[in-house]
Amino acid sequence: MVEILNKAQWFILEPTVFISIKNNNTLFYNTLNSSILEYSDKQILEIANMLCSEENLYAISLSETQLNDINVRNFINDIRNNFMGDIVPTDISKKKPVQTMPFLEIRNDINGILHEIETGDYTDAESLELLGKDVVSQLNHLDLFITDHSSVTYKKPNILSCAYKQFTMNFLECDSSVKNILNLETIKKIIDDLFISNLSSINILGGNIFEHPEISEILSFLNKTSYYKNYYCNYEDIIALKDECLLHKLANNLNSLTVNICRPINKKVVFGLFKELNNLSGLRKLEFQVMIESEDDVAFFEAIFSETPDINCRYMPFFNGNNRTLFEDGVYLDKEDLIESAYDEYRIFQNMSLNTNYFGKLTINSRGDIYSNVNLDKLGNIINNKFADVIFNEIKSKKAWRKTRSSVQPCKDCTYNILCPPISNYEYTLNKFNSCKIR
Ligand code: SF4
Repeated sequence: MVEILNKAQWFILEPTVFISIKNNNTLFYNTLNSSILEYSDKQILEIANMLCSEENLYAISLSETQLNDINVRNFINDIRNNFMGDIVPTDISKKKPVQTMPFLEIRNDINGILHEIETGDYTDAESLELLGKDVVSQLNHLDLFITDHSSVTYKKPNILSCAYKQFTMNFLECDSSVKNILNLETIKKIIDDLFISNLSSINILGGNIFEHPEISEILSFLNKTSYYKNYYCNYEDIIALKDECLLHKLANNLNSLTVNICRPINKKVVFGLFKELNNLSGLRKLEFQVMIESEDDVAFFEAIFSETPDINCRYMPFFNGNNRTLFEDGVYLDKEDLIESAYDEYRIFQNMSLNTNYFGKLTINSRGDIYSNVNLDKLGNIINNKFADVIFNEIKSKKAWRKTRSSVQPCKDCTYNILCPPISNYEYTLNKFNSCKIR
């Protein structure tokens, strides 16, 4: 407890503590132990504002009157008990103690250059020239939809036509008369154009990738590249596959395979598939992406996968328009989740400046349209637009790569927006940016 004090004291906050102030609410977060303190009274708000000012840098003098106010004393006790700071008698240190506070350092990377562009007086063409290949080098991942067609009869084609907007997943064009493909020459050109990027991984998706007329040649070409390659298909696509050589060609070059699966399924067929895929040698990683529409689906698939513990699976909740409670119960964050997440300074600065779900990633669909997020308008097309222009516009517009919670309602007015994970595609689909149990 802070005893009754007769003199002014220095109040010092540790540099590991972040302060978030929105309206009259103040949140203190200690990156060392994930403790959170929240206040909504004016005195603490004033103290927080003083601590954050550039002239004070987390060290302020508190008057005798302030120190003996019950709210302020309780606040100081909270701060001390959570190892966030302390008070120091002014007669021990006459001068204000030297302290520092967390600063988002703007270095000479794309953020630094963009900062100059946004505050300087450049045209877009001059900006692009200034940034040069730094723009394209921000790209590190590509989702490539090589076809949007499949002749396989799926039990739930509706999932295949819209789940790709919620998580990485194949896309099926509903109009079966439309067949868009990226041919081998186009794929080669994309890879050539991205030579100066930092591309390190590619997801190759369909439709049914095995029905692409040049799939064998595409596999041969991509197998010669050093990118991490993950191929996506549906479990029905493999069952319908006549040419088993394709599967071996895919597996033989340390590629990864993700198999989408959802109910209804034939258990016997699925167990046969597990066995067949597990016997494929050369596959770097095999994973089943299980689409979940209800708690019942979770129990169903858990029972199946408990019988095959050597098979990796990833459960992906799918919003079908009628199962919002699945998300409210299982996906929405609460305070405990945030405390358990134990954010470090780096993660908080990332949350404040960019969206790690999207930054550095592009999607190209089988029409050649380029997206930074498939829930948003396209950025351009591989025929008409250069990657440098597309990426520059994306970075500048802050539509996806740099879209943070501080730019959307109601998160922009919430003290938790520095802690919550970046905006996800689920939130676009649910049309609700506060996918949490907090606000
Ligand atoms: S999701 Fe948005 S509203 Fe909810 S706690 Fe996070 S920042 Fe606040």
